[in-house]
Amino acid sequence: MRIAFPYMGETTYIDGVPVWVCNKCAEQYFDGPVYERLEAIAKRRNSLRKTITFPLGRYTAAAHINRPA
Ligand SMILES: [Zn+2]
Repeated sequence: MRIAFPYMGETTYIDGVPVWVCNKCAEQYFDGPVYERLEAIAKRRNSLRKTITFPLGRYTAAAHINRPA
């Protein structure tokens, strides 16, 4: 699933994360190796902070809408 991963004051959105969700409070849990990998991804994001990003999901959806002439 897609998760919002807060790290060093910034949030990185990461797709395809194997995550456990508590069915009482909806809190997300990661296995240790998964968490380490998320951290590595978030660190890489910080080194690329000048890269312009946008929500891929919305962009894909918008591609199916005809532009006004
Ligand atoms: Zn819980």
